[in-house]
Amino acid sequence: MRIAILGGTFDPVHNGHLAAARSVSFAFSIDEVHFVPAYSAPHKQSRESTSAFHRFAMVALAISPFDGFRASSIEVDSMEKRYTVDTLDEMHMLYPGARFVFVMGTDMYQDFETWKDYRRILTLTHIAVVHRPGYDFRSDLAAHQVVKEHEQLDLPEKPSVFYLPFVEQPVSSTGLRDASRKGADLKQWVPPTVCSYIERNKLYS
Ligand code: ATP
Repeated sequence: MRIAILGGTFDPVHNGHLAAARSVSFAFSIDEVHFVPAYSAPHKQSRESTSAFHRFAMVALAISPFDGFRASSIEVDSMEKRYTVDTLDEMHMLYPGARFVFVMGTDMYQDFETWKDYRRILTLTHIAVVHRPGYDFRSDLAAHQVVKEHEQLDLPEKPSVFYLPFVEQPVSSTGLRDASRKGADLKQWVPPTVCSYIERNKLYS
């Protein structure tokens, strides 16, 4: 089984996350994409984030139209800050024999060598870096292969790094929270079910 993992704060989940997941899913014929909301993000301690339960609920709503997409409670269940390397170890235990592709935007990959045990992460999973407008791909970190749009690849035995330069979604959760506080309509960037959830629960007002 091929499992892609998209970790994040998802405060809120948006079309950039969905586009990243869909592109990786297609490129590597992924069986399941697991969206893994963080209980609290190791890299984002500087502000109070929305409750993990609201963020999880939004992810569940956003992915429901997509067959192979799953909302994973593996990190929120732990009720504490989790590192990617620990989540990957747990995923290997839960899905023996599965091949993993960890998905991240070019923004996250820029600082990848500051992540806990990043060298070990590179042995536990393939990495698919998707382009995020405004953030260049760092080509110096590891050997990598560039994936073309509409191309489908076999996953090699050895964990590798792939770059998908064609994902073009200029959206961020920070931008959406700010826009929502100013009264803007988020429906261009967020699935309608998530939009209603945000409005009903007054998450960013
Ligand atoms: P924030 O603005 O609060 O920092 P965010 O929009 O970066 O949030 P996260 O939940 O932190 O969203 O992101 C989860 C993952 O999705 C990260 O790997 C991030 O790089 C990736 N990602 C987020 N937005 C995009 C986007 N627009 N295009 C490509 N990848 C994205």
